[in-house]
Amino acid sequence: MNIHEYQAKEILRKYGVSVPDGHVAYNSAIARDWAKRLGDGPWVVKAQIHAGGRGKGGGVKLARTPDEVRNIAREMIGMTLITHQTGPEGKLVKRVLIEKGCNIARELYISLVVDRNTSKVTIMASTEGGMDIEEVAERSPEKILREAIDPLIGLAPSQCRKLAFKLGLQGKQVGQAVTLLQGLYQAFIGSDCSQLEINPLVVTGEGELMALDAKFNFDDNALFRHRLIRDMRDYDEEDPNEIEASQYELSYISLEGNIGCLVNGAGLAMATMDIIKHCGGEPANFLDVGGGATIERVTEAFKLILSDHKVKGILVNIFGGIMKCDVIATGVIEAAKQVGLKVPLVVRLEGTNVEKGKQMLAESGLNIVAADSMADGAEKIVRAVSDLG
Ligand code: GDP
Ligand code: MN
Repeated sequence: MNIHEYQAKEILRKYGVSVPDGHVAYNSAIARDWAKRLGDGPWVVKAQIHAGGRGKGGGVKLARTPDEVRNIAREMIGMTLITHQTGPEGKLVKRVLIEKGCNIARELYISLVVDRNTSKVTIMASTEGGMDIEEVAERSPEKILREAIDPLIGLAPSQCRKLAFKLGLQGKQVGQAVTLLQGLYQAFIGSDCSQLEINPLVVTGEGELMALDAKFNFDDNALFRHRLIRDMRDYDEEDPNEIEASQYELSYISLEGNIGCLVNGAGLAMATMDIIKHCGGEPANFLDVGGGATIERVTEAFKLILSDHKVKGILVNIFGGIMKCDVIATGVIEAAKQVGLKVPLVVRLEGTNVEKGKQMLAESGLNIVAADSMADGAEKIVRAVSDLG
């Protein structure tokens, strides 16, 4: 799960991480009021969407007067902001963050991620803040510093000082960096993050360290123990199909292609997507119905795929162990009846109750192409979709 920048900064404040004073606003009049309440200008008006690259896309603007804050907010709220992270369709701005502007001397980069190779939370830092870190990693990988954190010891002050020196911080900034990095690590652990990125972390003209932007990703499996974070979820920012899927405990991610996939097990789902691509097709989604899916869940899963207008064909690939093939067949038939099946459907079933499942599908009157193996299924659906033009 993701949250907005202003929510991320609320969390950071609780952990003692220095961030600019600011407040969210849903309309331009309130934005102007907040500017006045925050004290003297200038102010920065920042579009709140779950995507970065706002600066370059026109989603971060400086205002000199409260009236200017209002005017900028009026333009921003309701606009569709397109950045390199939103995709070409952009994202509708519904909230803005009004913040006291700060005088930037240097922009640095800090993030905390889980490094799966070492099984440790790792800090990544760079003097190249404000830029896309992917770009830095590609062009000058030596500029990315790494510090792995021992889970038993935690983040040692010596590690923070080492990073601070390498980032070129001096004097009291080193102490500030220690406090800030420890705060970030506590925020990361305390809210079960999978990723926490501060880009940029700035050194102000007055020589203070401050987190100017903040991006959190949370481990969804730990959200049950963070009510306050769960309440920050903004459904407007999410794919409606993915929200629907999560209500039925389906793992669903929509993709660009035109072949809908219904699969059980994440590994098999990945392999199915690979083999579709191998045969020259493009998957429209990743969908794992899970091991013990019920008829209702399978029905919903199938409906989800059918509701995607990009879908020109469907491949059902089930290896039924815990999942019984007749349950899958019932779900497919039920959903096809409810929604109407107008695209080619290829089904590959294997495992428990496979004969019963195949028989049900054969007798259903639906136009189903049976496949003998995964490769056979992928070839058949790719051919069926390309025949449609
Ligand atoms: P992003 O583009 O979505 O990552 O949004 P950021 O919050 O990182 O802002 C983009 C850029 O706007 C930053 O790298 C800064 O250069 C600039 N910016 C943001 N806030 C301020 C501010 O208070 N003062 C000044 N001068 N620049 C700012
Ligand atoms: Mn940023």
